[in-house]
Amino acid sequence: MNATNILPRPLPSIPSPAKVTRDPLEYLSASRLKSFHTCRLQWYFHYIEQLPSKVSPSLLVGKVVHAVLQAWNLARWRGEDCSIERMELVFEACWIHGCEEEAMIWNSADEEAKEKAGALSILRHYLTHTPIPQEEKPQAVEVRVERDLDAHGLPPLVGIIDLVRAGGKIVDFKTSARSPDTFMTTHQNEIQLGCYALLYREATGQPESGFELHHLVKTKEPKLIVTPLSPMTSEQIRRLVRIMESYVRGIEAEDFVPSPGMHCSWCDYYSECRRWKGSSLDR
Ligand code: SF4
Repeated sequence: MNATNILPRPLPSIPSPAKVTRDPLEYLSASRLKSFHTCRLQWYFHYIEQLPSKVSPSLLVGKVVHAVLQAWNLARWRGEDCSIERMELVFEACWIHGCEEEAMIWNSADEEAKEKAGALSILRHYLTHTPIPQEEKPQAVEVRVERDLDAHGLPPLVGIIDLVRAGGKIVDFKTSARSPDTFMTTHQNEIQLGCYALLYREATGQPESGFELHHLVKTKEPKLIVTPLSPMTSEQIRRLVRIMESYVRGIEAEDFVPSPGMHCSWCDYYSECRRWKGSSLDR
């Protein structure tokens, strides 16, 4: 069986941080909001200065797994072959494509082989244990939605919803090194899920029936943790709108201060940050 003629058309792209225009207020997105509220200076380096950032092995694994699950969902949606054997071929192609696209430099062939084997292992585990029946037709896959937020005095919200299961359940896939804590994962993903809720409601005129976070956990023995969540409440939507307002005000005021914390450990801009002298334009 030839990998090139079994792949879905078009080959799912490896999602990358959006190449953005330098107008950060052209639209809002979950990733822009989350990045800004994690550290404004890191956001500035990424979105305004567009400094290059390094793709770590675990980020590459997450991107490749995401691309294969995208292909799996599209195959189910189109009624095509979505078997594990076919997805393994998709995985091979996505791995090569991902390494080339991100210009990955491995410390050794063993390092790449270990990461690749780990990624394939969590994928096989997911496809064997997923709660989604192969024959269940998705309501939507990789749908891009835009929501006008003019009534709130905000730029439009734009996003892509990975998967909506039959009945209006929004699914998001995550890869992680350890099992998630239910309450913390709910809290940490509130911005992203709130954005999905607004977009889903815009697209369908109906509230979502809930969410599912599918965590593919990269432990020695791979695990799948599914966290079901209720629909967004009006209080959560109000919190999200306040977060959006704060984002817009911060950018308008060019308030790009650093927020040192745990997240600095995986920030690509540590050197630039240390050279910051109190103004993002004066480094
Ligand atoms: S090192 Fe920390 S404080 Fe500095 S830009 Fe990066 S995340 Fe922000």
